Amino acid sequence: MSVLVKGGTVIDPVQGLNGVLDVALRDGKVAEVGSSISANSSEEVFDASGLIVVPGLIDLHVHAFWGGSTYGIDSDVSSLSQGVTTVLDAGSAGAWNFPSFRSHIINKNRTSIYALLNISTTGMVFRNDGELHDLRWLDLNHTVEQGLQNKDCILGIKARLGRVQSGKNDKEALKISIEAAEAIGGFVMIHIGNSNTPIPQLIDMLRPGDVVTHSFHGFGDGTLDSNVDVIQSMKEAQSRGIVIDVGHGSGGFSFTAAERALSEGLFPTTISSDLHINNVTGPVFDLLTTMSKFIHLGMSVSEVISRCTQFPAETMGLSNIGTLMVGSNGDLTVLKLEDGQFTFHDRLSTATSIGPNTWTPGMTVTSNSRLSHVLTVKDGEIYKPWLP
Ligand SMILES: [Zn+2]
Repeated sequence: MSVLVKGGTVIDPVQGLNGVLDVALRDGKVAEVGSSISANSSEEVFDASGLIVVPGLIDLHVHAFWGGSTYGIDSDVSSLSQGVTTVLDAGSAGAWNFPSFRSHIINKNRTSIYALLNISTTGMVFRNDGELHDLRWLDLNHTVEQGLQNKDCILGIKARLGRVQSGKNDKEALKISIEAAEAIGGFVMIHIGNSNTPIPQLIDMLRPGDVVTHSFHGFGDGTLDSNVDVIQSMKEAQSRGIVIDVGHGSGGFSFTAAERALSEGLFPTTISSDLHINNVTGPVFDLLTTMSKFIHLGMSVSEVISRCTQFPAETMGLSNIGTLMVGSNGDLTVLKLEDGQFTFHDRLSTATSIGPNTWTPGMTVTSNSRLSHVLTVKDGEIYKPWLP
């Protein structure tokens, strides 16, 4: 199979590309990037004039365990069809239910799905089940065993450290998560938001390469903290190699918090959606909507693209994706930067099961541009879900 994507503005931060170029894909890989590549040897040619061509997008935080976790969505429907060719599932499964996630979902989806094992062996079976309230649900040996057996797709450990998820156990759960991650040679992603232990103390425990998600949430202990301690600790963490991730979610993103953080010089390392069943119909919808929100906040298109290609690939330790370098995986996305009037919400105005969190109504903004999806190429083939 060979595809030629012609005449689009190619943005590939890894190679420093930002200009009108053609991209040829052959045998599942990127075969050539250049100007005026002949269409003769390609079976399909796509005219991308006036459009943006980027490496297949990577979403560093989703919930893809459809049918096994009450958060689970179908990644081919919600991610791949919107230009996201690789996702990282953030702790939907733990050691106990990972084999089911692997055989029934990961091995069968067209989307490339990688996973972080939840440090709780139950994973996120129920909504707000508080999987870390009882440390008997943690099993270091079993977790490490699953991690080592599935090293090709388990990249580390997830720990949700809000009061709802871990109560007073946040520090202990994080200590065990780091131990497990070290044993399997992976990284730790922590969920923050209304945590029992102050966020700077949790972030201090992290190692370079570890990830903080929901970094721009708007709860009282988040980046809106009046003494800017949280913003400062995140900036310091980022300078020592810790990944500051968005993880939009139902309540993990606030325009006010993000605006404040950006004005203090704290930019996300990676932009992810935290797409799950409770936000796929809004306020998240898809990764492109989250990316568009950061363009609205003043980041450039290429700054936003790098945070959904180059940086998540680096975080995941994968050099064959997140770039259109010749020989890379044939994953490519064609986007359109639309002008108009678009409405974005940061979170829902009400939520039913957020436990003791203070839930303030969300904010709505009107933006004059947005990124929209045009075409997905996965493993060198144009993705056509309508074909059998
Ligand atoms: Zn999540």
